[in-house]
Amino acid sequence: MNRYVVVILLFSCIIITCGQNEHSLNVSHLDKKLQKHHFDIVNELHKPFIDLVKIHQTFHPGGPGDWYANKQEPGQTFYEYKQRKKNEAWTTIYIQKIGQFSPEQEKIVTLVTRYIGAFFQVPVKFTKPIPLEKISPKARRVHPSWGDKQIHTKYILRKILRPRRPKDAIAYIALTSYDLYPRASWNFVYGQASLVNRVGVFSMYRNGDPAESKEMFRLCFSRTAKTATHEIGHMLGIRHCIAFDCCMNGSNNRSESDKHPLWLCPMCLNKVNWFLPFNITKRYDELATILESLGLNQQKFLRKSIKLLDGK
Ligand SMILES: [Zn+2]
Ligand SMILES: [Zn+2]
Repeated sequence: MNRYVVVILLFSCIIITCGQNEHSLNVSHLDKKLQKHHFDIVNELHKPFIDLVKIHQTFHPGGPGDWYANKQEPGQTFYEYKQRKKNEAWTTIYIQKIGQFSPEQEKIVTLVTRYIGAFFQVPVKFTKPIPLEKISPKARRVHPSWGDKQIHTKYILRKILRPRRPKDAIAYIALTSYDLYPRASWNFVYGQASLVNRVGVFSMYRNGDPAESKEMFRLCFSRTAKTATHEIGHMLGIRHCIAFDCCMNGSNNRSESDKHPLWLCPMCLNKVNWFLPFNITKRYDELATILESLGLNQQKFLRKSIKLLDGK
């Protein structure tokens, strides 16, 4: 079961999708191309982002079944990113819950909402939940082989989110506990987002059962937080990262996405900070505090980042 990322043109908007792909290539010949891209990216960075480079790993393309072998996306420099438009009237991230959530999933949603607020340093609000019955039966299916109940992502983006998007939305993202699919030929997707329309959707369905154990609760949180921030990153116009190990890396399968860090690399942090100016140290501190309260070790990396920024 693979996951792939593809950029497609759809109804004049650019959509980024994560799902399955059956083809893979040998990536060893691509190393030089990646090294040059990494070098170009680092050359673009200024303080304080350049100070962070030393603790971030260079992007590794992974193996034949992994994302980069399948898609070989070109990456996106900071200069390229700055060509996008931003608007000071966009101030808030909105979350649109669709369908039912278990009590433990609800706890994850509350924590992830707090995490998103710290990650992007903006207010996060919920819109009125939409029950599953409101989703057209034509936009739902039971997976023909696996039996999973699934909702069509493009229906959510076009019919649910676009007409309801609040005017001040930086991003308007739907969250569901049901599985997602973007077209009949695909098995599933974890999430899908528009690079230009500020709408996206992601699912908790494949993130594990948080009621199973404390460890599963933490894992479910990490996966949900990672997908949420990754998809919202796309909604801010950020493409997949091939410069560093980063939560904006593409993923082709669960083990690959679990290896990606929760944090942004210096370049992607620079992009988010250009779009939403904030105090970087305060942001790291708030994120570390949340991860610490959950017993997640990743907080140590964020504390280390604060020390670097402080010149220690
Ligand atoms: Zn993506
Ligand atoms: Zn990055």
